Amino acid sequence: MERTWVEETTNKIGKKVILFGWVNAKRDHGKVTFIDLRDGTGLVQVVGRNELKKLSGEDVVRIEGKVQKRPEKLVNPKLATGTVEIAAEKATLLNSADELPFPIDTKGDDIDEGVRLKYRYLDLRRPRLQRNIRVRSAYVQACREYLFSKKFVEIETPILTKSTPEGSRDFLVPSRLNPGKFFALPQSPQQYKQLLMTAGFERYFQIARCLRDEDPRADRGFEHTQVDIEMSFVEREEVMQMVEAMVVFAVEKIGGKVAKKPFPVFTYNEAIKQFGADKFDLRSEREKQTGMLAFAWVIEFPFFEKDSEGKWTFSHNPFSSPLLQHEKWLMGKTHIGEILTTQYDLVANGFEVAGGSIRSHKPEILQRVFEILGYREEEIKEKFGHMLEAFTYGTPPHGGCAHGFERLLMAFFGEEYLREVQAFPQSGSGRTSVMEAPSEVEVKQLKELGIRVSK
Ligand code: ASP
Repeated sequence: MERTWVEETTNKIGKKVILFGWVNAKRDHGKVTFIDLRDGTGLVQVVGRNELKKLSGEDVVRIEGKVQKRPEKLVNPKLATGTVEIAAEKATLLNSADELPFPIDTKGDDIDEGVRLKYRYLDLRRPRLQRNIRVRSAYVQACREYLFSKKFVEIETPILTKSTPEGSRDFLVPSRLNPGKFFALPQSPQQYKQLLMTAGFERYFQIARCLRDEDPRADRGFEHTQVDIEMSFVEREEVMQMVEAMVVFAVEKIGGKVAKKPFPVFTYNEAIKQFGADKFDLRSEREKQTGMLAFAWVIEFPFFEKDSEGKWTFSHNPFSSPLLQHEKWLMGKTHIGEILTTQYDLVANGFEVAGGSIRSHKPEILQRVFEILGYREEEIKEKFGHMLEAFTYGTPPHGGCAHGFERLLMAFFGEEYLREVQAFPQSGSGRTSVMEAPSEVEVKQLKELGIRVSK
């Protein structure tokens, strides 16, 4: 007989079923014993006699029994399956569970973070996290569905790659075959996705993992995931519209409500004047109560800003192109502080949830950007020669965006921490869940890599 999922039991009144799952709760009433059986789809009450007595909380079981309608006065309106119960005929203990290190039927935010992450596989059993991770999956699926319907191709790009300037610190991986040389983990697939435009894919996307060695914060960890997008033959508004339509589609798919459509657009200057920042929350007090998502685009950022040493640095992305009317300034290296970029950022409820730009697809423009950033000729060749060369072989005009949907889900759920929407996040001090990393490695491994650790 085929397995029945808990959520299907209400359609199987009078039928014999086999269920699998965990003992969510047990109530022993002497002659009769009840358990709430939990599987990936919900809870259902199982009623039995001796066969259920031996079970305890979080045991893993197989239940064979008959679905019966509950009498009217015993219907449990709080349970999706509250109109039925399973009369157990046979209960098989598949694995017994020791007492868990913490309760899993609470919100969990009062439990020490280190303990929660050490036992993340148990922490994830709590309904709040089950919901977060399952809705996350549905959100990503909706993004995929939308993009596939618009001729996008899903393409993976390398994890072992070369350092690319994304404004953050790289994670480095030593090369055994090339002692003294290192790979970098990607801060984003920026350069590869642009090369895919040269390659003629025209519309690319990837659910991309981005790795940045920054100090962790509530809404930032070492790793985050983006819906990464790049499109050929587009102007700024077309990318913004595509991303907006995808986000609205996916948000509404998971039951979210969007405050204003189309999303309002602010220039960077307007945003600073009105909100004092380029990230802001447009929700009214009433909207805050109702779980509304208030999106807005911000455009026309300065391309360059001065760093702490007074040198020019890029504000967002060196591969962005300037606004068309500012191309002259860029090529002539004048009015540098006034050059505006085609960058667009999407904010929602005070979080930055996407960012992108139209790119410089002409090598001479990109070359000029790197010159303004103070790179020497050899350095430009060494670091970005492959891009400049690629752009000499027929690269279409292109632009893209990366949607940091984890932050959007944080806003959607009203979660305070990014890690509440990630299955195995790092701790606030940057250590991994369950398996304690970073950790020491064997001397033999270090030798192979030609690395000596100085204490
Ligand atoms: N690569 C950029 C980022 O990760 C996004 C983009 O411009 O497409 O922020």
